[in-house]
Amino acid sequence: MLTAITGINWGDEGKGRMVDLLAEEQDIVVRYQGGNNAGHTVVNDRGKFILNLLPSGILRPDIVNIMATGMAIDLQHLAGELQRLRDAGVTVSPENLKISDKAIICMPYNVAQDGLEEKRLKDAKFGSTMRGIGPIYGDKYLKKALRIGDLLDPDYLRQRLAGILEWKNLTIEGVYNSEPFDYQQMLGWLEQYGEPILPHICDISSYLRQAVADNKKIMFEAQLGALRDIDYGIYPFTSSSSTLAAYAPIGAGLPGLKLDRVMGVMKAYSSCVGEGPFIAEMFGDEAEALRAAGNEYGAATGRPRRVGGFDMVASRYGTLMQGATELALTKIDVLSALDQIPVIVAYEADGERFTDFTTGGRLNRARPVIEYQPGWKRDISGCRKLSDLPREARSYVQLLEDAVQCPISYISVGPERDAFIPV
Ligand code: GDP
Repeated sequence: MLTAITGINWGDEGKGRMVDLLAEEQDIVVRYQGGNNAGHTVVNDRGKFILNLLPSGILRPDIVNIMATGMAIDLQHLAGELQRLRDAGVTVSPENLKISDKAIICMPYNVAQDGLEEKRLKDAKFGSTMRGIGPIYGDKYLKKALRIGDLLDPDYLRQRLAGILEWKNLTIEGVYNSEPFDYQQMLGWLEQYGEPILPHICDISSYLRQAVADNKKIMFEAQLGALRDIDYGIYPFTSSSSTLAAYAPIGAGLPGLKLDRVMGVMKAYSSCVGEGPFIAEMFGDEAEALRAAGNEYGAATGRPRRVGGFDMVASRYGTLMQGATELALTKIDVLSALDQIPVIVAYEADGERFTDFTTGGRLNRARPVIEYQPGWKRDISGCRKLSDLPREARSYVQLLEDAVQCPISYISVGPERDAFIPV
């Protein structure tokens, strides 16, 4: 059974807890794209863990976790994440963590370049998370990235680093008028933070090919959501990798694979970190109440997230682009705080009302058409059956399911592992 778990919206849908929940049934969990620019939050009996790079299955001892080819890995960040887990008593070994030799390394100069470019852009900034992700994916496609497997071949690593650094410093010094990066320092960084992961590096394609032949249960886990996809999201305010389920086979190293199941994680309201068009956005007291109820502050950055009502237009598009076969609806318990619940049923732009998602300038000009649903004003975090939910909450779930035309198979009513309703 091959399952992908992906986000339907702008990210932060609560994918981490769904992966943690479904991981129970898996043999292998694979992270197939992105870097440490977002965070999964997993709450379990050992505590609360923010995982930026590591697959969410790392918290379960019998699962093999794979950091796959589509990822961009900041070695220093990874070292910190591994240390925090080990401090909490989590076992990490080459048996339960495997890293693709073809994943790219996010370097300190990529992080610096991210910051320098945001500074240059001033008010026109993209709202980058400043983790170097845009620059390193740019380098990848310019064929100027170091790959994890290079760490195993010191001569080749040195030769690649020297060539790339000479080129990169032309930009750092010439374009941004900033201090160049020193070769020895960069080499030292690669050796220091690369060394502990050397036993974890392998050819994940052959590992996974064998696993599929052995009928293992494999879950492919994405970061961020459909609307952040580099091709189909709110470009240019997207991430720099593909966040779609369809990319899982390529990013994981098995391009011919067919997924059996695509679970889309969809939030019962909207939230969005950073800049870019966010049509559902609410402001003032109404927004602050929702932000506080949902604890909407970035897991990776601590930034307050922009919040709004559920967006039918964007969520239907996200469901379609993910090719979701089922949905997990998360954080519906947060809406218990609201007297009435805003839902975006359409957009309006250029004198026209429409329900098909759009991008570019037309999206920038779009305004929401909002309808309000009755709230239930009751704590539902203890509900474990559909019939436990108040009538208004059940109607709300039905409304959303009809809008996106995909069955909702889980309703999450809290961050804890057991806080969900199977449908
Ligand atoms: P991810 O990147 O999609 O995993 O999302 P985040 O981890 O950034 O955000 C999810 C946040 O919401 C975390 O703090 C979770 O513990 C929390 N969370 C997940 N599902 C629920 C839910 O159903 N209700 C509530 N109240 N919190 C949830």
